Amino acid sequence: MRVLYLLYLCLILHIPFLPLSVIAIPTKPDTGPAVNHHIADKIEALCLYSIENGHINVHVFSGDELKARSAIRIKGYITGVVLLSISFIDATIAGHSLNQLQISNKGSCQQTGYNLEPEAFAAAFRDAGRPGFIAEHMNQFAGRYGWFPAVRGDAVCTQKQFTIVLKHSEQTLEVPVYHTGSIQLPVFSSKPDSAGNLMNFRYLGNDPGQFEIHDFEIRTRAIIDGIRSVETTMKNDLVTAVNLIDYYGVNNALTCEGRTEIWIYTETFWKESPEELHVIARHETIHILVDRHRLTKNTELRKMFADLRGLDPFSLERFTLITRGVLPPGAYPGENGAPDHILFAFINEMNFFKGMKGGHSRDNLDEFCVSFLHTLLYSENLGPNLQSPVILPGGGIRELNAKERSALLEDYLLVMEKMMNAVNKNPSNRIIKDFFRDRLENIRQLKERTA
Ligand SMILES: [Zn+2]
Repeated sequence: MRVLYLLYLCLILHIPFLPLSVIAIPTKPDTGPAVNHHIADKIEALCLYSIENGHINVHVFSGDELKARSAIRIKGYITGVVLLSISFIDATIAGHSLNQLQISNKGSCQQTGYNLEPEAFAAAFRDAGRPGFIAEHMNQFAGRYGWFPAVRGDAVCTQKQFTIVLKHSEQTLEVPVYHTGSIQLPVFSSKPDSAGNLMNFRYLGNDPGQFEIHDFEIRTRAIIDGIRSVETTMKNDLVTAVNLIDYYGVNNALTCEGRTEIWIYTETFWKESPEELHVIARHETIHILVDRHRLTKNTELRKMFADLRGLDPFSLERFTLITRGVLPPGAYPGENGAPDHILFAFINEMNFFKGMKGGHSRDNLDEFCVSFLHTLLYSENLGPNLQSPVILPGGGIRELNAKERSALLEDYLLVMEKMMNAVNKNPSNRIIKDFFRDRLENIRQLKERTA
């Protein structure tokens, strides 16, 4: 699953490569299911990645060690796995199928933000009492598998126990794993969803005591109110859970394609004001709305975004954006030399909601759709904001003249028309269509008054 780069704050702070180490794991009496020795012999190493106190650790088990254990018990929670084997193995972790890892010539493999450098593998093997492992070995294994969650630092399973299943030649080895899983946090907000359910707030980490202060209630309430405000306007339950992750060095909030949860790192949760958290929660909820209506898959919207970005009609960037929905790798936003369209800055949350910080609508169509819809949800700000200076991405400030104000409203109508056409393809989207119709009328009237 692909992370949508839904970085409201756009603040991935310094994320050093996290040191790998192995902690002592108590061995339980061998009372579990019978171990199939044949398949265990095929396993070079099972590497379990755990997070404890915000830091990542790796635990390396040889096939022989797996034979000797009835279960694996880990402090902290498991965030991913790498399996190296001398034969092809069909493997799952907590029901997730492991994929073949792509290994570079230098032995590195990239996996959803986890930079699994060969030096780190070598250090982990050394700590596990196997000092002979070198980077070149990575390319020699027939089976090089891995699974990590789409969201960095998320758990492979929220339950306290799950199973790793390894299959080879009709033989199966099941390895029960015990970890902390997630912790359910108390929720004080009285705002349930339309089915009467309170928001599910989960914590991934080792310090639940940090939430035993009054500020926690204020912050959770701000987040839930933000989520519910979008859901109420759109008459749609969108978010099923909020996950707070203790993961060192990440300051962010995000959602994920095909999922209905929001992930917020604890640094963000504590650092941002309740007002900012409220706006962040709305922004992330709108990401789920955009995903549900598949707006970023719509070719006309992709073309419109390419036009707004000023991409050359015959450029690779435009072709890739329209066919795949994203700019080609290495194409940094802002490098095409086109003048920056004022609409991007205008709809960013830092401009549209005074005193707030977020928004990076120029980065990709998804962020554009989210920030744009966010402004429509609060369209009463539109008139006053047209009269206010616009903060530009570089930090400059620009006053709009009458011609620019009129052109900006023209752009609004154009974008709305494209979005309405996109949702019109699905006859069940009556509520969002009504929402667009209502806002379209408001903006037409505003344009007439502005002219
Ligand atoms: Zn976003």
